[in-house]
Amino acid sequence: MLATLESFPDLPDFPPGEVWLAGAGPGDPRLLTVLALHALTRADDIVHDALVDARVLRLGRKGAMLIPAGKRGGRPSPDQRDINEVLIERARLGRRVLRLKGGDPFVFGRGWDEAAALTVAGVRFRIIPGITSGLAAAALAGIPATTRDTNHAVVLAAGHRADDGRLAAADWQALAKLGQPIILYMPMAQLVDIARSLQQGGLAADTPAALIQSATTKEERVLDSRLETLAADAAKAGIGSPAILVIGEVAGLRHRLLSAMVGWR
Ligand code: SAH
Repeated sequence: MLATLESFPDLPDFPPGEVWLAGAGPGDPRLLTVLALHALTRADDIVHDALVDARVLRLGRKGAMLIPAGKRGGRPSPDQRDINEVLIERARLGRRVLRLKGGDPFVFGRGWDEAAALTVAGVRFRIIPGITSGLAAAALAGIPATTRDTNHAVVLAAGHRADDGRLAAADWQALAKLGQPIILYMPMAQLVDIARSLQQGGLAADTPAALIQSATTKEERVLDSRLETLAADAAKAGIGSPAILVIGEVAGLRHRLLSAMVGWR
């Protein structure tokens, strides 16, 4: 593994005192980017979210300090400032700081807040994109984000607002009116409300909806449903967080692939 990585051209030095803000992808370490893996082998401190898979953390350099930043379920956390402080302090101590987030750091990940805080503090940083769980979970379940026949846009949305407030029914109705598939992060707390509001906004009761729990982990499960029965079906199947919800015609297409598609594991 190391030999392959080292033969990769143009991998940057990780200078002491820099912060690398990287996405770890949806879970399975094979979906890390080469740069994220490189960062893991170089970092002195790895400040990671709760969602970052243990298999990824095990790839960290021996002797690196693992520092959990502990935000569960993607909820906005009162201690975001503390996390910023940890990054700044560690960098000023001359550590190579890897800030590792699930998926992509700039998709519902508060990565921008941290980058802005580092900028204000004058700490140099690098952004390393990751494969966002919404697109990965869908694709691995056989759900295309777009096809030529179904949609020319796709909405990435969060199940609740950044201030932890509920999205108003009107917001969901407005999204429904776009008539484009919706990929929802953090959907579980408000499944009933979301499904109802989307129908009030004009989506048909039988619009396909797929829930993908813990994509790329051994707990992965996929539930096929319809808007109307989604909340009840999810409760019955015992689907929990973390999960991605895909709503729209594309969510119903995966069945056409299942006879030939090789399973993830
Ligand atoms: N920055 C992350 C998203 C953080 S918000 C990204 O780009 O993926 C946290 C939400 O991500 C979870 O509530 C869940 O909706 C989703 N999520 C993250 N990993 C997941 C996985 N392996 N399977 C399903 N959903 C996942």
